[in-house]
Amino acid sequence: MQVESRGTITIDVERCKGCELCIPACPPDVLSMSTELNEKGYAYPELTPGCTGCGACLLICPDFVFEVYVYDKPVRHEVPA
Ligand code: SF4
Ligand code: SF4
Repeated sequence: MQVESRGTITIDVERCKGCELCIPACPPDVLSMSTELNEKGYAYPELTPGCTGCGACLLICPDFVFEVYVYDKPVRHEVPA
C-alpha cells in the first residue's frame, strides 16, 4: 500500500510532557504515542507516513516540540497493508 506525505515534522522528544493533545489534533491521524519514555519519563509522539504539513500539531503543542516542513513535491511511502 502506498501513502503520500506532503510534509513532515521534527519532534523534539525531550521537550515533550506527554499531554497527548497533539494526537487527536492531527487531521490525518499520523501521530501516535511512543512506548518508550523520554528522559523526564514521558511518552512522546511518533510520526507515521501521511503527514500533510498542516501545522496543527505545532499550533496545539504547549511545549514547542514540533517543527513543520512542507515538501515541494509529495513523497510516496510503501507501507504494509
Ligand atoms: S502536544 Fe506537545 S507536549 Fe503534548 S504530547 Fe504532543 S508533543 Fe508532547
Ligand atoms: S503537520 Fe499536520 S499532518 Fe503533520 S503530523 Fe502535524 S498535525 Fe499531523
